Amino acid sequence: MFLKGKRALVTGSTSGIGLAVARALHAEGAEIVLSGFGEAEAIQALCDELSARHVAGDLSQRDGCEALMAAAGPVDVLVNNAGMQHVAPIEEFPVEKWDMILALNLTAAFHTSRLAVPHMKAAGWGRIVNVASAHSLTASPFKSAYVAAKHGLAGLTKTLALELATHGVTANCISPGYVWTPLVENQIPDTMKARGLTREQVIEDVLLVRQPTKSFVQPSDIGAMAVFLCSEAAANVTGANMSMDGGWTAE
Ligand code: NAD
Repeated sequence: MFLKGKRALVTGSTSGIGLAVARALHAEGAEIVLSGFGEAEAIQALCDELSARHVAGDLSQRDGCEALMAAAGPVDVLVNNAGMQHVAPIEEFPVEKWDMILALNLTAAFHTSRLAVPHMKAAGWGRIVNVASAHSLTASPFKSAYVAAKHGLAGLTKTLALELATHGVTANCISPGYVWTPLVENQIPDTMKARGLTREQVIEDVLLVRQPTKSFVQPSDIGAMAVFLCSEAAANVTGANMSMDGGWTAE
């Protein structure tokens, strides 16, 4: 329960990886602030489960980021996790999807971080954990916006780490390979279309083909890594990009 007395905001925590990270931080005693979209009843059930508050705000918009951070209040742990994907060849890539992916997967982390850092500096302690991706280190075709945004997020993380190094505040990325969540499930139809493959072929020949372990990463594994990064043992882990990709980026 080493996070007792600490407030943790996890963006995109109504689903998938963010929810698993919120559960793991809650298990260590953190006061959880949830964010993300979903049915009101389902969000209320999560708030009850985690004794959490939910703060609203569209993180693809600057004013949404600012409203969300104001509602959250000062946070000791900031997990920038909300993200989205779109799969299309560059010449057909919808311009509004490019703008949205850059805004949500990269620019939102700039806004939340700039608003969270003053309290962390004043407290002399803070943890920023950015959920990036194997695509922060390597590319795949048809994912131009996502790969660009995640590489940018890795760069932002390193910059934050250097700026905050003497303030007791660390900033790191966790970079998963494929994790079985709605984000992955939802890209299967577009990948089938873009590559002319069946659903089974997408899973075996596209998703897991680059993951040497041939298995999906579990959301709870990412929660465990976030807990480690928040621990005192990780006080000197900063500016790192922690791969959890079954060996993908070792190739
Ligand atoms: P998910 O679709 O299950 O969850 C996304 C979350 O973000 C949801 O809570 C959703 O409500 C929220 N969200 C979406 N748009 C938003 C907006 N405009 N404003 C505020 N919140 C918004 O996705 P996931 O698979 O859990 O992915 C979480 C993060 O992990 C993303 O950044 C993703 O890029 C990254 N990631 C996922 C995988 C994977 O295989 N699933 C792999 C590597 C990295």
